[in-house]
Amino acid sequence: MIPAVLPTYNRAPLAFTHGEGSWLVAEDGTRYLDLGAGIAVNALGHAHPALVAALTEQAGRLWHVSNLYRIPEQERLAEMLVERTFADTVFFTNSGTEAAELAIKMARKHWYEKGQPERVEIICFEGAFHGRSTGAIAAAGSEKMVKGFGPLMPGFVHLKFGDHDALRAAIGPKTAAIMVEPVQGEGGIRVLPDACLKGLRDLCDESGALMILDEVQCGMGRTGRLFAHEWAGVTPDIMMVAKGIGGGFPLGAVLATEAAAAGMGAGSHGSTYGGNPLGCAVGAKVVEIVSDDAFLDAVKARGARFRQGLEALVASHPEVFEAVRGVGLILGLKCRAANTDVVKAAYAEHLLTVPAADNVLRLLPALNISDADISEALARLDRAAGRVKADVAA
Ligand SMILES: *Cc1c(COP(=O)(O)O)cnc(C)c1O
Repeated sequence: MIPAVLPTYNRAPLAFTHGEGSWLVAEDGTRYLDLGAGIAVNALGHAHPALVAALTEQAGRLWHVSNLYRIPEQERLAEMLVERTFADTVFFTNSGTEAAELAIKMARKHWYEKGQPERVEIICFEGAFHGRSTGAIAAAGSEKMVKGFGPLMPGFVHLKFGDHDALRAAIGPKTAAIMVEPVQGEGGIRVLPDACLKGLRDLCDESGALMILDEVQCGMGRTGRLFAHEWAGVTPDIMMVAKGIGGGFPLGAVLATEAAAAGMGAGSHGSTYGGNPLGCAVGAKVVEIVSDDAFLDAVKARGARFRQGLEALVASHPEVFEAVRGVGLILGLKCRAANTDVVKAAYAEHLLTVPAADNVLRLLPALNISDADISEALARLDRAAGRVKADVAA
């Protein structure tokens, strides 16, 4: 019999009653060290006092009014983002996949309004993940996501990740935009080198194609800069944000330059919940904390410290781990053993990690994880690797 909850997920048999910082407490009282942070969502850990205060203060006043009216909390968050990024304007969504939908629509509308309606193609990359809407799965194009869901939305071209020559050849008079994650998350913590991102920007400038960056997972401080593309010194035309920006409250955004967004006038797009006062009040507090230079410097330091420990772990368990990937606190361990076995062994050590494609173990801790918790995480990963080795030997 089908369960009451549609069985689309492979869930671990764990349920949590509360959380505190980088720790989650299970129903039986066991404390788990959380290196998944709800898949890079709980950017400031669980139950951060400033976020709880922002949420409860707003909850006591006003939750929702719809976009029929001005929403001062939304205007404030948009202004904060515009101040801190390349963007001139922001649209708020409730999720990453909704941000992908608008990014695609905006790029096509841009060319339509410019009198080049034939420019509809969006170039995407193998291993990409942009969400689960019909547009987003057509963009990513992986068989696992699209099989059985056809006919797919046309107009997407798929290229190998990081193949500059193929990209140059693929850009043509029908290209509207290039859409890419600076660091692939679901794809296995694959970092697009800065030189590639720069080259991509150059190709976009030459051809006029818009650059859409999907920073849903790698943005909001995760790499040690507010947004990952800042490392390469280039800026996109359109950027998708979600996950960390709400710190656990469902919130997403599309940031864009004035030129890219030119076609999106009144009536061209909408969302009933998008940019509601509750989400925006929490998002403003997250952005205020995470965009602080000292906070971002601390993320870089924590990332360096964690990475150093992970390199040592790879050296001492070459049968289990092959290499460390990532930047800042979006880290991955490319595994030799099955990554899912490592995830299970980590559960046994009361440590939460997330599998990714390409046999990678993903580590996405809260951005404010303490040094003591990083050390504890490394010790537990070491013991988990020991368990995997023992199981293989048995
Ligand atoms: C998670 C994710 C999405 C989709 O976000 P949802 O909120 O799950 O819809 C899109 N792009 C990237 C890079 C992601 O990691």
